[in-house]
Amino acid sequence: MLNVRAEGMSALADDPDHFARRFKAEGGHRTGFAERRLFGRYLREILESVIGIGHAEVDHSSVLEARLDDGLWRLALNDGRVLRARALALAVGNQEPQPLGAFAGAGERYVNNPWGDEARGAVRKLVDHGGSTLLIGTGLTMVDLALSLDSAGYRGRIVALSRRGQVPRSHADFDPAPVELGAIPGGTVLSLWRWLRRRSAEVGWRAAIDSLRPHSHALWQGLDLEQQRRFLRHARPWWDVHRHRIAPQVAARIHAMVAEGRLEIVAGQVLAANPAGGGLAVEIRRRGSDRSSSERFDYVINCTGPLHVIGQTQDSLLRGLLDSGVVRPDHLGIGLEVDEHSRAGKRLWALGPLTKGRYWEIIAVPDIRGQAAAIADDIARELKE
Ligand SMILES: Cc1cc2nc3c(=O)[nH]c(=O)nc-3n(C[C@H](O)[C@H](O)[C@H](O)COP(=O)(O)OP(=O)(O)OC[C@H]3O[C@@H](n4cnc5c(N)ncnc54)[C@H](O)[C@@H]3O)c2cc1C
Repeated sequence: MLNVRAEGMSALADDPDHFARRFKAEGGHRTGFAERRLFGRYLREILESVIGIGHAEVDHSSVLEARLDDGLWRLALNDGRVLRARALALAVGNQEPQPLGAFAGAGERYVNNPWGDEARGAVRKLVDHGGSTLLIGTGLTMVDLALSLDSAGYRGRIVALSRRGQVPRSHADFDPAPVELGAIPGGTVLSLWRWLRRRSAEVGWRAAIDSLRPHSHALWQGLDLEQQRRFLRHARPWWDVHRHRIAPQVAARIHAMVAEGRLEIVAGQVLAANPAGGGLAVEIRRRGSDRSSSERFDYVINCTGPLHVIGQTQDSLLRGLLDSGVVRPDHLGIGLEVDEHSRAGKRLWALGPLTKGRYWEIIAVPDIRGQAAAIADDIARELKE
């Protein structure tokens, strides 16, 4: 199920109700949460209509390398072909999580990419053969994996572990309390935090947090480098679980799994992991305890979220662009440096999570669609000149 209400999931920046109407036609409500497979169908329909009128073509291959020669991009594909293009937009999405040091020698029972074939294979094996699962991280990806296991019929034990053991909060109805940008004391994380606490006491935390949404890019850019770093270090874990909420039905299933003893949320740290008895022996220190204990799991899956240090990407296309200096990491090193038009270089644009250094809140559809429309206009302008 999507984590954003149907009314926020339109693909079209100039028609914000586009998806809500589609969802309503299927019996849903605009403030409800649609299944991801419906959203996938919706995106495919839009794409097919654009392909149908000859405005787009989809090529199912990977770009391994991109080079700009004489104003023309040459893209080397994994099947040996070369594509040529006058403009290139990098919309490659999230990069797989940073490998966890403690699992360096763990072997195949440790799955680093929770969104890939390996994780799907691990889920199938756990369903078929049973066993216990450790999910590292307690955010949206953990929720996804726990529900995927549950839906597939897995009845074994799941432990989800993160430093603070904070799980995304649930959406609930609230009266919106919009606020003008000028009324928010930005500039430092502390002043924003204090405002948020005061405002939460007055109008409820959901209304307070969501009132920041239209101003998030301005507030983020109003923080200097030191303050942005401070936010990432101290405030981010709390921000993430309150801001990126889950559908109430999803929260209810997670709570039920916890109540039935099938899912345990642990605040703690992994100290070491070693292959043992066909699985992994993992040494865990729980928060508040000065002792560690060893527990055996059949599979461990990294759910710590997308890669946060762009310089460590394993993606061949990005790696090549970074190594040759065509693109640069942003000031925080979490994405690519882009200008106010999301340009990452000559005839080169980047969008979505790759641009979170500049915009921070640019990982969900309501934000990305506006950026995509602006980039399309900018490309059209550039190519006309
Ligand atoms: C668990 C979880 C739940 C989420 N839930 C929601 C939600 O409910 N609502 C919401 O709005 N957002 C949600 N998000 C965020 C959202 O999924 C992503 O931020 C969003 O999909 C990013 O869109 P994108 O088009 O930039 O990238 P993606 O959707 O990741 O698409 C990137 C595409 O690029 C392709 N690609 C990558 N590299 C290459 C290459 N070298 N050559 C060719 N193709 C390549 C990939 O195969 C893929 O098709 C969620 C994220 C997570 C982790």
